[in-house]
Amino acid sequence: MKPTIALVGRPNVGKSTLFNRLTKSRDALVADQPGLTRDRHYGHGRVGDKPYLVVDTGGFEPVVDEGIMFEMAKQTLQAVDEADAIVFIVDGRTGLTPHDKIIANRLRQGSRPVWLAVNKAEGMNRAVVTSEFFELGLGEPVAISASHGEGVRTLLNEILERF
Ligand code: GDP
Ligand code: MG
Repeated sequence: MKPTIALVGRPNVGKSTLFNRLTKSRDALVADQPGLTRDRHYGHGRVGDKPYLVVDTGGFEPVVDEGIMFEMAKQTLQAVDEADAIVFIVDGRTGLTPHDKIIANRLRQGSRPVWLAVNKAEGMNRAVVTSEFFELGLGEPVAISASHGEGVRTLLNEILERF
């Protein structure tokens, strides 16, 4: 099975940076699913003989409302519901925000497995940077650095093991 992995999170947490890293393989350029690859929010990746599809849901975000009424865009919700796995990205430098909690609440209602990735963790203590995110109720947070590549392969392997 070729899983679809949706990258979810509020703006600026590093979704697109992670997307680029996950789709860097040559396979990212192969248009074996024309309907999807024409859409720039979708990309292909592969680890060994395990291919996957990545969705950068941030590309779906319209104008971002920073207020309390923030909701995930309709298309984001659709991508989440259609995905096989979800990577919920939070920002380890900013720390936990109300938006993170809203998104977490929505993701906990879904049936898809969620991996909680604490991004921008390069140079930080893993236990310290992840600790405040346990309260999101999505299991053990994984420290990563999308821009430096740290923890990304481990996270990806954990996800792909399930499919
Ligand atoms: P998006 O809005 O969620 O798609 O976030 P972007 O991928 O556009 O990244 C937002 C900002 O965070 C950019 O300035 C990135 O360079 C930066 N960024 C992304 N990943 C990392 C990371 O692992 N470490 C640090 N320090 N900055 C990062
Ligand atoms: Mg983006």
